[in-house]
Amino acid sequence: MYIVEIASECAPAAKAGGLGDVVNGLSRELQTRTQWVEIILPLYDCMRYDRMGPLEKVYHDLWVPWYGGSIHCSVFFATVDGLRCYFIEPHSPDNFFRRGHFYGSPDDIMRFVFFSRAALEFLLKSDRRPDIIHCHDWQTGIVPVQLFEIYKFLGMGNSRVCYTIHNFKHQGVWDAEVLKASGLNRPEFFMHRDRMQDDFNHSALNLLKSGIVYSNFVTTVSPQHAWEARFTEQGFGMGPTLAVHQTKFAGVLNGLDYSVWNPEIDPCIPVHYGPGNLDSKYADKQELRNRLGLAKEFKPLISFVGRLDPQKGIHLIQHALHYALGHGAQFVLLGSSPDPGINNLFYNLKRYLQDNRDCHLEIGYREELSHLIYAGSDIFIVPSMFEPCGLTQMIALKYGTVPVVRAVGGLVNTVFDHDYSDKPGEARNGYVFHQADPAAIESALSRAIGLWNNYPEEFRSLILNGMRYDYSWRIPGERYLDIFHGISSGW
Ligand code: ADP
Repeated sequence: MYIVEIASECAPAAKAGGLGDVVNGLSRELQTRTQWVEIILPLYDCMRYDRMGPLEKVYHDLWVPWYGGSIHCSVFFATVDGLRCYFIEPHSPDNFFRRGHFYGSPDDIMRFVFFSRAALEFLLKSDRRPDIIHCHDWQTGIVPVQLFEIYKFLGMGNSRVCYTIHNFKHQGVWDAEVLKASGLNRPEFFMHRDRMQDDFNHSALNLLKSGIVYSNFVTTVSPQHAWEARFTEQGFGMGPTLAVHQTKFAGVLNGLDYSVWNPEIDPCIPVHYGPGNLDSKYADKQELRNRLGLAKEFKPLISFVGRLDPQKGIHLIQHALHYALGHGAQFVLLGSSPDPGINNLFYNLKRYLQDNRDCHLEIGYREELSHLIYAGSDIFIVPSMFEPCGLTQMIALKYGTVPVVRAVGGLVNTVFDHDYSDKPGEARNGYVFHQADPAAIESALSRAIGLWNNYPEEFRSLILNGMRYDYSWRIPGERYLDIFHGISSGW
């Protein structure tokens, strides 16, 4: 099967969050199952060029239709982690992908509408006819619309589209300018509630909704979140559209790439360990303390790694930090936000705590350090307001770090409470709380800290339970292939 991933991220070259990991991990899993996989990405100026093979210009003159004219693009090829990636570079004064960031420009919607059109134009002009086009999030929601309304009639009638939603909050809502720019035109046709029209602002288009309506199959990244998106406010208004398209909608839990996230082979941690030599994990804890200047005392180390977005429960992260410091634990945070207000909040906290040797706040994006934090911590918090899948709790489990999570989305499908889960004892792997208030996270944290202090052997069993879980891409990879085969054979 010939599969093309069209996405705005692919780790480690272009990664802002979990989407980048998923595109990489799933593609590699599909590739090991002898599928032919190619990935199309924008050529950002801010990519990790040190994490990809040399760029080779493979297509010189790609003219991508845009408004009434066209924009001249070049297409480059490079491998990323052994994956075949094509990068689109437009040559226009818009400088769509030379912004020093992946997202956060006022014209983000136009940037990615252009990218979507360019990706399809590249497939067409380079005679690529994939069986499956797999798109992700609002950035590429317009791809199936363009495929089935334009490119199908230009010889791409056999491709089928699977659309994966990693985040329902960001939907790409813009006015009819999108239709003009992308060549779809006909606002009287597309600006309709059964097609691209936003359900709340009737004079706007919604790219996430468009992706759902036009794709052959739609997934989100965990079974629990598929339910939440349909039946709760976590669908951010997509519930009615998902209800109409429910027969082609399912939740598939993301996997973890264990060739990247595995403490037995991870090159970013000084001492390797696994379930068989768990004691070596302690050396990584000491190294983490060395590196961050933390005191070496008999204390549990609690950590958080992630985007500092309101989605991640910023008030609960702050509360957990103070609670940990007040209850004989150490706390490490690694995170950043595109919102300077939120970053400043944490910079102020960092200044306030600068003399505290039990605490370190690292504001920024540090891939390598994140590995050492997962390895060197005892407890990991994920107090999200909503969490479609969440990778950090699965990484923590693999690194023998006990997750303390809020019961939302993929966290419900992956973490099972030590005291209250209905699973048998050996299947319990962390702590879960429900409400989004300080008392709730306190009660879960106090149980975790209490077990670490008073029942070290039981804490160790909890760690080993977590490390035994298989959250690799093996099962999700199979599920995606089933879906791809299903839509190819005309389900
Ligand atoms: P989301 O996709 O909402 O950002 P996920 O939990 O699915 O959240 O994925 C987050 C990924 O990004 C993890 O691999 C995590 O380690 C990584 N990550 C997030 N913030 C940082 C940071 N500041 N430095 C290093 N890695 C980070």
